[in-house]
Amino acid sequence: MLRLHDTATGSLAEMSAKNGPFRLYVCGPTVYGPPHIGHGRFTLVYDVIRRYLESGGTTVRHVSNVTDIDDKIIERANSERRPWKEVAEENEALWWSAMDRMGVAKPHVVPHATDYVEEMVALVSELVARGIAYDSEDGVYLSVAHVPGYGLLAQQSLESLRAGARVEPTGVKRSPVDFALWKKAKPGEPSWPSPYGPGRPGWHTECVVMSLALLGEGFELHGGGADLKFPHHENERAQAVALGRRFADHWAHNGLVEVGGAKMARSVGNVTSLEGLAEAHDPRAYRLLVLQAHYRAPMEVREAHLEAASQALERLDSLARRIEESSGDGPQGTLPASRLPERFKERMDDDLDTPRAMALVFEAIRSANASLASGDRPAGLSEGRAALSCAAAVGLLPTAVSVVAKEALHLAEKRDQARSARDWAAADALRQQLVQLGYRVEDTPAGTRLYR
Ligand SMILES: [Zn+2]
Repeated sequence: MLRLHDTATGSLAEMSAKNGPFRLYVCGPTVYGPPHIGHGRFTLVYDVIRRYLESGGTTVRHVSNVTDIDDKIIERANSERRPWKEVAEENEALWWSAMDRMGVAKPHVVPHATDYVEEMVALVSELVARGIAYDSEDGVYLSVAHVPGYGLLAQQSLESLRAGARVEPTGVKRSPVDFALWKKAKPGEPSWPSPYGPGRPGWHTECVVMSLALLGEGFELHGGGADLKFPHHENERAQAVALGRRFADHWAHNGLVEVGGAKMARSVGNVTSLEGLAEAHDPRAYRLLVLQAHYRAPMEVREAHLEAASQALERLDSLARRIEESSGDGPQGTLPASRLPERFKERMDDDLDTPRAMALVFEAIRSANASLASGDRPAGLSEGRAALSCAAAVGLLPTAVSVVAKEALHLAEKRDQARSARDWAAADALRQQLVQLGYRVEDTPAGTRLYR
C-alpha cells in the first residue's frame, strides 16, 4: 500500500480508496505562457503516483483544472493587444502538446474555471450569508479569523501569518491575511455577473468549487507544487472549512525545480521550456531525472544530468531489445523468480522513494545483461522482464517494446510453444488473436516476430 507524507499531519498516510475510485485533484496550469520544466516536474510526479496506483490495481479518478481567466492572462492579452480568450486557448493547446510529448496521461476530467463561475458565485454568496466573507470596494474577501485551524498547511499560526503578511495600502481588507473570493472588474476587464457587481472569481475559489463538484467531499488526495501550500491550498481549504464541508483527506506537495541553483520561476527569467527540453532530449530523460530525485526535495536540472539520464535509458532500451530477441529463442520453461518487484514495491510504497526504486531497477538491468552475456538465459529473462515491468509502472516503458505489448509477447511465446509441439491448430488460433490485436505476424527461424 502506497504511503505518502501528508502535509496536513506531517506523517505518512495510506493512499487507499474509501469506496469507488481513488480521487485525486491536482492544481493545473494558469494558461498565460508555454509550460516550463517546473510544470513538467509536478505533472510527472502526479503522473507517476497515478500510474503506480493503477499498476497495483487501483482505479484512479484524476481531476486537474485549467485556470483560463486570471490577472496574468489579462495582462498578457493587454500587452499583446489581443483577446484574453485567445491567449488562454493558445497556451492551453501548447500545454497539452507538451504533456503528450512527455508521456503524461491526461487527467480524466479537466474543468475550466470559466465553466464554473455560477457555482463560484453561489459559494461566495453562501460565505457572505454566513458572515464569514465581506463585500468591499474592489472585491469580496474571506475573513480568515473566522476559520478554525487556519494555517494548518502553512504550519504557522494565524498570528505569525498576519505578522508576516504584506499590508496593502488600499485598506479594503479587514486583515492583511484575508483573501479575495471575487474580484470586481475594472473598466475593460472580462467579467461575469454577481450580486457583488460584475467581476471574476479568485483563484483559490476556483479549485475548491471544481474539486468538490467533480470529486465530492472527502476526496482522497489533493496535490500540487510546494509553492501552492500557502496561500493557495490553505485558502482552498479555508473556504471548505468555513462552509462545514469535508475537503481533501490528504495533501501532497512536490519540491520545486532549480536551474543552476535558482528556483524555477518565470519571474526570475531562468525559464526552460518543456517543448525545448523535449526537442533536445528523449522526453523520458526528464521523467527519469524527476524519478531520481525524491518528489518532496528540490530538484536541480543541468544539461549533464539529462545526458546521463538519456544514457541510462539507452541501457534500458537495449535490454528490452535483447529480451525481445531472446524471447523468440525457444520455449521458456519455468523462469526463476526475481526479487525485484517486491523490493521495488517496498521502496515505492515508502513515501514514493523513487530514487532508491530506480537504483534497484538499474541494478537489475546490469544483472540481467550479465546473465544473458554469460549464457544464463532463464536468470537474464526473469530479471530483465522484472526490470521492464517496474520501468513501465512509472511510465518509462522502453521505446523498443512499447510497440509490442506484454500481452502480445506472451501470445507469441505460446504460439512458438504450440509450433514446436506441432499443434498447428493452436498456433493458427494464436496467430488470429495477434492479428486481432493489430500485429503483423511473421515466422522466422528464431520464432514468431511481431510488427506493427
Ligand atoms: Zn488549485
